Amino acid sequence: MKQRKILFVDHAAVLGGAELHLLDIATAYKETSRVFLFTDGAFRHKLEAAGIKVRVAQANQSILNVRASSGLEAFKVLPNLWKMAGQVASAARGFDLIHANSQKAFVASALATFRGSPPVVWHLQDILTAKHFSSINRRIAVWLANNCATRVIVNSEATGKAFVAAGGREELVRVVYNGFDSTPFDRITPEQAQQIRTQLGIKDVPVVGVFSRLSYWKGQHILLEAIRKLPEVHALLVGEALFGEEEYVTELKSLAAVPELAGRVHWLGFRDDVPVVMKACDIIVHTSTEPEPFGRVIVEGMLAQRPVIATAAGGAIELIEDRVTGRLVPPGDAKALAKTIKELLDDRTTAIDLGKQGYKQAKTNFSLETILTTFDRALPK
Ligand code: UDP
Repeated sequence: MKQRKILFVDHAAVLGGAELHLLDIATAYKETSRVFLFTDGAFRHKLEAAGIKVRVAQANQSILNVRASSGLEAFKVLPNLWKMAGQVASAARGFDLIHANSQKAFVASALATFRGSPPVVWHLQDILTAKHFSSINRRIAVWLANNCATRVIVNSEATGKAFVAAGGREELVRVVYNGFDSTPFDRITPEQAQQIRTQLGIKDVPVVGVFSRLSYWKGQHILLEAIRKLPEVHALLVGEALFGEEEYVTELKSLAAVPELAGRVHWLGFRDDVPVVMKACDIIVHTSTEPEPFGRVIVEGMLAQRPVIATAAGGAIELIEDRVTGRLVPPGDAKALAKTIKELLDDRTTAIDLGKQGYKQAKTNFSLETILTTFDRALPK
């Protein structure tokens, strides 16, 4: 399985979910493959530390700056994407396949096929809705997928459905969920988790954690609103703004500054030790207000054997069976979230059981080994 020569292409070099998933995939193919990034950053260091060969291109800043939601601007960037396609085509010489891990990477890689590069697989990890993608961006990407991609790997049924609804050819689609190694979670001792609490000065209080980049649609504000009426509860906000959403951070900070929340909101920034921080929590919440394409943090919360409360939309409903392997609440509903947090804190037996059942579900359906096999099978022969 690991002998294929794949050029993995990603425009981003930050540590987002799509990049962390690529790290696991590229590690499996590292003897024969390489990662090609449009820009340099923390992701390159992670890849290289895992022994993966990386090449960093010099992308024109306009490619990096253009937003998925932008309209006509997308057209203006096309000439620079065409130039980038040249760099992708030359980097892809001698490889069997290009795997494009982001939309920008896919557009450049699809254009590269006009310049003699190998077949392209688009690994689509976003729900192509009007909320996040302008109509022009969707049309360009879907047209290129239908005409230039040999496969579209999607990270959930929800992502696949949105691609088809946007005009994508159904026969291209293969669902491959994210996979996880449980070892980093399994080896955390209760003492290590306790140490995190000690460092934060929150020994014997109920702790709820949200582990997502700070972004409006990730909905951290919903958690802050929910715990306003739960005076004992502390919140850990883990993650930082990865894609320039500083305004939202300012907004969150002012929400957290209300007297009812004084001393109860802990800003942890980006953490490299998510498993131990999750184990320091009583409950993990996922608060996205828009449909989540997959939601790695949901499965990670399950692997930490903590009850996970997630919003019932997108890929999240493929991960959690409500009241069996976790809890689902409506997106954007702080009252429902507060009620569910309270229920779980008041009923420790149920909370522990949900954690255990979630763990089983994560180990059974989202083990890295199984997912890597599914991924390999989804590639064109
Ligand atoms: N994450 C991390 N450190 C942080 C916050 C998040 O390593 O401080 C990781 C988290 O463990 C998860 C990923 O970032 O693996 C986020 O993936 P998810 O699918 O939840 O969201 P995305 O960023 O892809 O929208």
